Amino acid sequence: MTDHQTLVLSGKRAVVTGAGRGIGRSIALALASAGADVAVTARTSTELDQLVHDIQSIGRRSLSVPCDVTDPEQVKYMATTLIDGLGGVDILVNNAGNAGSHKFLNHPDELWHRMLAINLTSVYYVTKAFLPKLVEQRQGRIITIASIASRVGGGYIAAYSAAKHGVLGLTRALAVEMLPYNITVNAICPGYVDTPMTDSSVANISARTGMSADQARETLAKSSPQHRLIEPEEVAAIAVFLAQDSSKGITGQAINIDGGGVMS
Ligand code: NDP
Repeated sequence: MTDHQTLVLSGKRAVVTGAGRGIGRSIALALASAGADVAVTARTSTELDQLVHDIQSIGRRSLSVPCDVTDPEQVKYMATTLIDGLGGVDILVNNAGNAGSHKFLNHPDELWHRMLAINLTSVYYVTKAFLPKLVEQRQGRIITIASIASRVGGGYIAAYSAAKHGVLGLTRALAVEMLPYNITVNAICPGYVDTPMTDSSVANISARTGMSADQARETLAKSSPQHRLIEPEEVAAIAVFLAQDSSKGITGQAINIDGGGVMS
């Protein structure tokens, strides 16, 4: 048997949103390393160009389309272009998202709408754009990067948490509708992951509290029973697991990866 035949995602075609950096970049590279051709999207072209080059260096096909996933017209164009370029799609990873925080008293309406747009409505637009192809093929995987904030509340993150809770509702409802088509729909719920988004959270904490960046990072790490941040590659490994044919019995689920903080 050749190496090519042993790879679990050999012959699969994947799309990853928010792939330019952080968790999305790790997922795109992990899917490619597992044998899939991987198309990627985000808004920053330079990061996408580098990633396409890195995926091609692994020996897989790759292409990118810059897209703001909160804009339905851009999403439709991105989906059509990537499906044409890949010749179909088997795996969709809804990863693009962003965190923002504010105390609820005097909460800015703009932050509320922005958090719902990037963390919830974007998943609706992107999934809706790729779903007809998955249904036509009568098989597929939809994997959404939710959050441990989909499971529990937390101070100052009402809008982010509401959006991320919403993503689980969408995941479960869609999982039921997709049963006849052999399409599984699942979510991954990470605690704090060591990414540029968490670097921004660290900077915010430092600015608000006067803590040093190291102290702020340590505070986030200690919120996990394992006293550490999750690595993006750990989240990517779960995405690869869910994407495999052998995971066909897992649907409508949300897998926590938070060092044992939330046990449900
Ligand atoms: P990063 O901020 O490090 O990366 C986010 C990616 O999403 C970038 O490539 C960014 O590219 C893209 N993105 C952001 N906004 C848009 C948009 N409007 N349209 C298209 N692409 C967009 O985030 P992480 O890797 O940390 O997070 C990835 C996902 O994981 C998010 O859904 C986040 O909520 C979730 N998560 C993260 C955790 C963490 O601790 N980091 C914990 C739990 C969940 P660009 O700006 O170029 O568009």
